Amino acid sequence: MQRPKRTDPVELSPRRALRLYARAARLRCPHCGGGPLLESWFRLRPRCPLRTERGEADFFLGSMMFNLILAEGALALAIVVWLVAVWPAVPWAFPERGAVLLMAAAPFVFFPFSKTIWLASDELIRPVSAAELAPSPASEPAGTSPAARRPSAHARR
Ligand SMILES: [Zn+2]
Repeated sequence: MQRPKRTDPVELSPRRALRLYARAARLRCPHCGGGPLLESWFRLRPRCPLRTERGEADFFLGSMMFNLILAEGALALAIVVWLVAVWPAVPWAFPERGAVLLMAAAPFVFFPFSKTIWLASDELIRPVSAAELAPSPASEPAGTSPAARRPSAHARR
């Protein structure tokens, strides 16, 4: 039985992953480190400074998973730390009311980070190819741009 070919081990190295996620945490392009990537808190620029572009209509559905994990995980951790700090005299009114409000607000706070972390994860598994570093779509016939051929980097949303 033949083993499947692996990708370049350098591409999946922990050091490269750390670099990609560090760029994502700073809201920079995970691929080139350029930025700023945000047009507004809820909208990414269509292309990064290197002009890589990824994202078909549903490309960023995966970022919703990161948004929930980041937002609710960070809030749960903060509540546990707070409970340990004030134990045993816990003012239970805060978790009953305040935590619910924070839980609703947290996904909005983490929204852009979830998108850049999703881009970093995609870049880690599926590095941007030379074909994706293409000239602007205006110089190509319709439907032949790399972005049209392959679902790919920065958001349209
Ligand atoms: Zn870039």
